[in-house]
Amino acid sequence: MLTRLLPLLLATAPVWAQYAPANPEWNRPVAPFRIAGNLYYVGAEGISSFLLTSPQGHVLIDTGFEETAAQVEANTAKLGFRFTDIKLILATHGHNDHTGGIAVVKRKTGARFLANPAERTTFLEGGVNDFAWPGRFAYRPVTPDGALRDGEPVRVGPLAVTPHFTPGHTKGGTSYAFTVEDSGRPLRVLVACSVSTPGYKLVDNARYPDIVRDVESTIAKMRALPVDIFLSGHGWDFGLTEKAKARATDASAALFLNAADYRAWLDKSLAAFRAELDKQRAARR
Ligand SMILES: [Zn+2]
Repeated sequence: MLTRLLPLLLATAPVWAQYAPANPEWNRPVAPFRIAGNLYYVGAEGISSFLLTSPQGHVLIDTGFEETAAQVEANTAKLGFRFTDIKLILATHGHNDHTGGIAVVKRKTGARFLANPAERTTFLEGGVNDFAWPGRFAYRPVTPDGALRDGEPVRVGPLAVTPHFTPGHTKGGTSYAFTVEDSGRPLRVLVACSVSTPGYKLVDNARYPDIVRDVESTIAKMRALPVDIFLSGHGWDFGLTEKAKARATDASAALFLNAADYRAWLDKSLAAFRAELDKQRAARR
């Protein structure tokens, strides 16, 4: 009997186990809050998710881990928005901490998911063939509904979000630029993709031969973008914890005007990258 049941049990058991679990520290809940204008934070403590709203539907940038998706859903409701009004999902890059929840959010909302074509296969395979960590940060595969084009805005009602292809951390890393209006003032927002190369082989990387060129050109490209509000996939890059706390008593958009922090983040990222590159080149000699 058991042998007859076994295939059925396997077929119905959650495939969950094969996916990398959430980092519990990163996944700690954060009370959602307004960043500026129609832009809200709906992510967790160490992993971001941003909701850009309009009366004609919303855009969600990154979902966190699969386990974060329920928080994103609850946070959206707490802010008074309907989860099913999310019409478009975007992702900074195909690692499970940013995109593990996309399949769930897509199923629950029916939203379209548009992706950088260079990351498409990664999403289709759930990250199992990542050039640096094949399979280690696998997630539920998700099929993009269409392709983004570098510098070409995507729209939901009055919302326009411009994807900037910023490869290096992954081959299809993408940052998103848009403008929000706060107290009659337009503010330029950038949700920056990670540019770190944690443990990556930078020299003679057969799985990503252009990695050095990509990281250098991505940081140069990011430098040229006009930014009033800098945000990223990880809260520590833009002081999420302190800002979320300050938000309780300070409702102003000024709390998030951090262009200087953005420049400092780029400088720090480039310095870390070059130091690691020098180290790897020296070790090869
Ligand atoms: Zn990553």
